[in-house]
Amino acid sequence: MRRPSLSTAKPKLLSDQALARLRELPIADVASAVGITLRGNKAMCFNGHDTATPSFTVSKARNTWRCFGCGEHGDAITLVQKIHCLGFMDACNWLCHHFGIIGGDVPHGPRARSLSRVTSPKPVNPLPSAPSTSSDFELYTWLVARCGPVKASLGTTYLQTHGITPDLALRFGVVELVDPARAYRELEKHWGPDRIRSAGLSGGRRALSWSGYALIFPFKFDAITQYLQVRCLQISRKFFGPSGIPKPMFNSQRLSQLRPGSLLHICEGVPDAISMEGSGLAAVAVLGATSFRSEWVEELLPFDLVGVPDGDAAGEKFMKCLANEFRVRSKSIRFVVPPEGMDASDVIARGKNA
Ligand SMILES: [Zn+2]
Repeated sequence: MRRPSLSTAKPKLLSDQALARLRELPIADVASAVGITLRGNKAMCFNGHDTATPSFTVSKARNTWRCFGCGEHGDAITLVQKIHCLGFMDACNWLCHHFGIIGGDVPHGPRARSLSRVTSPKPVNPLPSAPSTSSDFELYTWLVARCGPVKASLGTTYLQTHGITPDLALRFGVVELVDPARAYRELEKHWGPDRIRSAGLSGGRRALSWSGYALIFPFKFDAITQYLQVRCLQISRKFFGPSGIPKPMFNSQRLSQLRPGSLLHICEGVPDAISMEGSGLAAVAVLGATSFRSEWVEELLPFDLVGVPDGDAAGEKFMKCLANEFRVRSKSIRFVVPPEGMDASDVIARGKNA
């Protein structure tokens, strides 16, 4: 499994008031937020069985939905669970974030605030212990600029086995962070401990969230690092992302360079997207099924889409999620599934290193 585990592993918080507020969200608004186009109170079912007559129905009186074709039914939260393939808490957090409701564990950035003005939900008091983190482009950019190109054999071997040449690593700004303790001290001197914590990099203690040698994959837009994925290679072999920060799409600026109708691969991992780019294939990465945001559908619609999941159980969930997201917009997406237990970059590396 290649998905980062930090944000899914920490306990999630949701107040009773916030939960009640989610259940009061008008079902028609929630349907539209997940990409279902209602005509009156009906729509084509997201399960794809409707060809002419819509069987998905919302009841505004009961604030629920039901499909008379396949029998699925539920409330606002279950609808988000179905469409985005999320667990209960992740679906609640998705709704909190989308409708600007305070009390979930998601950060309340400018987007959440602007949505809350539009939908004006009743404010709910946040739990006193709710962590508050938000993306910190300035700090991420500063950190990445102070790391060097990948030189240690731990890093170069990892890149090579994932089909990423040194030139390709430079092009995508992949860097190595050799000494996290020293990096933390420098960060603290420049930004202070609170700012590092609220950027999601330090948790509760005065140290970075990971230890040992790691590669950093920056999510860049022009020269700005908007997010980073840390791949630990020494002590544990895990991915870390800033805690509590929604994971953006990797290589999203590629979309503005592509002509409508061009082939675009949606990978499940950052190394996969980079190695595909190295093979001359346009690729973005979405970090697992739970990271997909329905507002991305609109940006991706113009392209000829190929999903590239990992060959494992998480990959299957990823594939199902993408298929659902695009089916509600009547958009087709093909899938290329690597052999069991492999991902796209393994396959590309095997070809290159053979
Ligand atoms: Zn149905």
